Amino acid sequence: MQVVEPLERAAVSALRSRFAGHLIEPVDAGYDQARLVWNALADKRPALVARCARIEDVIAVLDFAREQELLVAVRGGGHSIPGLSTCDGGVVIDLSPMSRVTVDAQHRTVRVEGGALLRQLDAAAQEFALACPVGVVGHTGVGGLTLGGGIGRLQRKYGLTIDNLLACDLVGADGQRIHASADENQDLFWGLRGAGANFGVVTSFEFRLSPVGPAVTRGVLTYPLSRAAEVASIYRELAEEAPRELFLALGFGQPGPLAPGENHACFIGVMHCGSVAEAERYLRAVRATRPLSDTIQPMPYLTTQVAADEESAWGKRVYMKAAYLPALPEEAVLAMAEQITASPAGGDCSVSIWAMGGAIGDVPADATAFSGREAAFWVEMEAVWGDATLDEAHRAWSRAAISAIQPFIVAGNYVNAVADSGEEVVRATYGPAKYERLRALKRRYDPDNVFRLNQNIAP
Ligand SMILES: Cc1cc2nc3c(=O)[nH]c(=O)nc-3n(C[C@H](O)[C@H](O)[C@H](O)COP(=O)(O)OP(=O)(O)OC[C@H]3O[C@@H](n4cnc5c(N)ncnc54)[C@H](O)[C@@H]3O)c2cc1C
Repeated sequence: MQVVEPLERAAVSALRSRFAGHLIEPVDAGYDQARLVWNALADKRPALVARCARIEDVIAVLDFAREQELLVAVRGGGHSIPGLSTCDGGVVIDLSPMSRVTVDAQHRTVRVEGGALLRQLDAAAQEFALACPVGVVGHTGVGGLTLGGGIGRLQRKYGLTIDNLLACDLVGADGQRIHASADENQDLFWGLRGAGANFGVVTSFEFRLSPVGPAVTRGVLTYPLSRAAEVASIYRELAEEAPRELFLALGFGQPGPLAPGENHACFIGVMHCGSVAEAERYLRAVRATRPLSDTIQPMPYLTTQVAADEESAWGKRVYMKAAYLPALPEEAVLAMAEQITASPAGGDCSVSIWAMGGAIGDVPADATAFSGREAAFWVEMEAVWGDATLDEAHRAWSRAAISAIQPFIVAGNYVNAVADSGEEVVRATYGPAKYERLRALKRRYDPDNVFRLNQNIAP
């Protein structure tokens, strides 16, 4: 177990005198709960978890960390796949108490504090039958998801989360407040949309909202794995002709019923955000393809947004590899189906492919730091397990699975799905041109790399 050096008492007392939130040190009750993040692989012991209640708290902790020369981690929802929102021996700026969401229904905008979760944003916006396109698990943080881009079920219709971002308020590395938008600090606003965890602590986001629901049509069609090539061709056709209202996923794993003699299945997941009648008409043909099961039905948008919350619960060990695909040739599909049958025992391995396109591709590739708008599909090979002795087997599966489709993938990656780190990984994620532009920004806004616990842009 990592030994945590105790903090200087006078400095902690001085911090406490100007701090309205909650400071938690290793000796305090609740420390073991407070230090947790979503991925159990990130089992770290910070010297201080600072639960910030207001902007002044964030500034106070940054001052304290600078004076005490402590490493700084920033935590929104705690979902970072590589566990970047905690650290050993440093300070965690935990934004979870700053989770207010304020909707302006008349102007269709929303202001969201930096520690809010997707389910809080979704619930507040749906009171007015509005939504911002976000991710698919309700306990993900708005902070990390937005700053990396934000891919989910409404994006083909309304664009990435960052395409709906109007402004950010942040506290910079020197403790100064900064406002970034299309009119103010435009260079920073460009970098915040895709590499945002590098430039400061975002205390609030302002988003555009669009009409959604309250009812949408969602469900999963499950098929025998032996029909993988045929199912992929059904999916490909759907993706080619799909209206923007349709979210489409193709997957391999253990999502539900299995065919006799098979341990895995393949499935097509859909959500249609247009009218229920239109969805029914559009999905009729795919539902007639003799699936093993069909759960497609109208339901409240809010129900779909928390449907995966339990299966994505905190405390599991998780590793993944992800990539963009320009197309989905049959050889790639067969390779993925083969990989799923080779997944190790004792965990849960899955392959998910999401159709991109639609509004995601309407925004020019260089308009934001995000990389991958031109891709037709995004694929993720995820391994989830509980027993530490199975770590290597699951990591190895994920790596082998992505290697198997290497000839079919394109350069770039979705930063929020990158589980590894290091300069080479981050450069490859953004591509050399964006990486150099981001470095120039980093040198300007965070030359000492105070914010280094992220997919780091080295200044
Ligand atoms: C179960 C699960 C489901 C997911 N589903 C989706 C999905 O559908 N779509 C999708 O696009 N992504 C998805 N992701 C990936 C997710 O977007 C990233 O893991 C994201 O970084 C999580 O944000 P967070 O605030 O919860 O994480 P955290 O771990 O708190 O933070 C992640 C990174 O962002 C930084 N950060 C967080 N908040 C702030 C802030 N306010 N200011 C400055 N920096 C901040 C942190 O320092 C850290 O570097 C999912 C992840 C998980 C675990």
